[in-house]
Amino acid sequence: MKPVTVRVPAKVNLQLGVGPLRDDGYHDLVNVFHAVSLFDEVTAVPADAPSVTVEAAPDAQVAIQNVPLDGGNLAMRAARLLAERAGVEPNVELRIRKAIPVAGGMAGGSADAAAALLACARLWKADLLLPALPELGAEIGSDVPFALLGESAIGLGRGERLTPLETSGTFHWVFATADGGLSTPAVYAECDRLREARGERVPWPPAYDELAKALAAGDARALGAALANDLQPAALSLRPSLRRTLDAGRELGALGSLVSGSGPTTAFLAESAEHAAGLAAALAGAGVAKQVVRAYGPVPGATVV
Ligand code: ATP
Repeated sequence: MKPVTVRVPAKVNLQLGVGPLRDDGYHDLVNVFHAVSLFDEVTAVPADAPSVTVEAAPDAQVAIQNVPLDGGNLAMRAARLLAERAGVEPNVELRIRKAIPVAGGMAGGSADAAAALLACARLWKADLLLPALPELGAEIGSDVPFALLGESAIGLGRGERLTPLETSGTFHWVFATADGGLSTPAVYAECDRLREARGERVPWPPAYDELAKALAAGDARALGAALANDLQPAALSLRPSLRRTLDAGRELGALGSLVSGSGPTTAFLAESAEHAAGLAAALAGAGVAKQVVRAYGPVPGATVV
């Protein structure tokens, strides 16, 4: 058995509509996912017992100290689930090389879970389970199926019922990372709290046709105007400094800006690769981010390299 390496992208939510809190504690979502060119790599190596190692990709400056190395690692949880379904021992060493910010709202953990599913399915020659990977992934987390699919897609339900969205051309992005993560459950709880305190009724479901049209036409200006994130007020409430970052991006000419998912990473849409380079340099110079990275989208989902 030879090691298998899978490359998997980060995501940005172009629209994250959060419905009212359901009785089961979840929210209905209307979630437009877009895969961007920040990649983690997961290598599955045959071993005598399960284990995980994590390192930052060269030049990526990802803070990896909060990534668990035990059974709590989402990649290892995915490998164990697959082993159980395939009827094999989960004897694999997972080597994770991260370029996706940790707890940054770009679904890095979910991406690693998706990569581990594909890498282990290939390592263990569990070809019959390949079509079932999205369903297995959804058991690990609602962002995992999209990391397998990639490109652009709309997710309904908890975000896991996916339909691909037609996209033309390439969109150029700048991402600003922030010190420390934001816990996704804490951001949802703050969203509920703010809505309750303001007596807000959530209009549901939200329209997304302008966004879908902009993607299909490859129209960055229209896409910039249509970006929307219902979790943004909650992320800003928990991390007020993000407002300065968003304001700086707008003042520096971004076509659109928003908090990525539950944050604290912020995303800025540029007009072209050159515009993105200028915007990234200006944002870095403004001192409103820990780190500024450029990426483009859409890109394919988890792929064996
Ligand atoms: P999302 O956008 O899906 O809400 P996120 O990008 O904000 O997620 P992740 O990077 O996925 O956040 O990590 C969230 C937490 O999950 C981390 O703080 C970490 O403790 C845990 N975790 C488990 N496995 C991993 C992994 N392979 N990579 C990163 N974090 C992991």
